[in-house]
Amino acid sequence: VEDAEYVVSLIRTIPDFPKPGIHFRDFTPAMTDARGLQLMLKALERTLPVPADQIDLIAGLEARGFLLGPALAAHLGKGFVPVRKAGKLPPETIKESYELEYGTASIEIETAAVHNGQRVLIVDDLIATGGTAAAAAKLIESAGGKVAGFSFVMELQGLDGRAALGDHPVASLTVMP
Ligand code: 5GP
Repeated sequence: VEDAEYVVSLIRTIPDFPKPGIHFRDFTPAMTDARGLQLMLKALERTLPVPADQIDLIAGLEARGFLLGPALAAHLGKGFVPVRKAGKLPPETIKESYELEYGTASIEIETAAVHNGQRVLIVDDLIATGGTAAAAAKLIESAGGKVAGFSFVMELQGLDGRAALGDHPVASLTVMP
């Protein structure tokens, strides 16, 4: 749609950042632009993987999901829960580890933040391999919640990130090479 096109036109690609060979996709200019931010939220609302009334809570992934998630949550009238890198949240927390290209990473959620049976939409700026989002889904389920689906602004092509997310519905505003 036209609105999503405007948002996508604001996304910046930085070659060889943070290291050689990586083309870093930066959606922050779409947040800086007042119209971009509003249209991004509207586009995310329009493309939600499940109807908004089937979502109780939005979970955002550190760090860029912290920019997007609370804005989308407020836009939709939902609460927000942060999924953080390990060691940042006060107890009680649940931890989940996942594979990176080199080594592993761990993320955490506060156990009390998700109530039994709550339907949680997981939000991040970008899905690549899907490893981070899949680990977040496990955290939501371990905390007693249900994964309603996933929303991303950007989806990297050719990495089959959606396959890592099982049967959960996934939405993204744009697929990037
Ligand atoms: P995945 O776990 O799907 O392989 O990687 C997704 C995670 O890495 C997300 O949290 C995302 O923010 C970050 N990420 C990976 N590549 C990029 C990129 O090119 N740009 C941005 N902004 N984030 C990236």
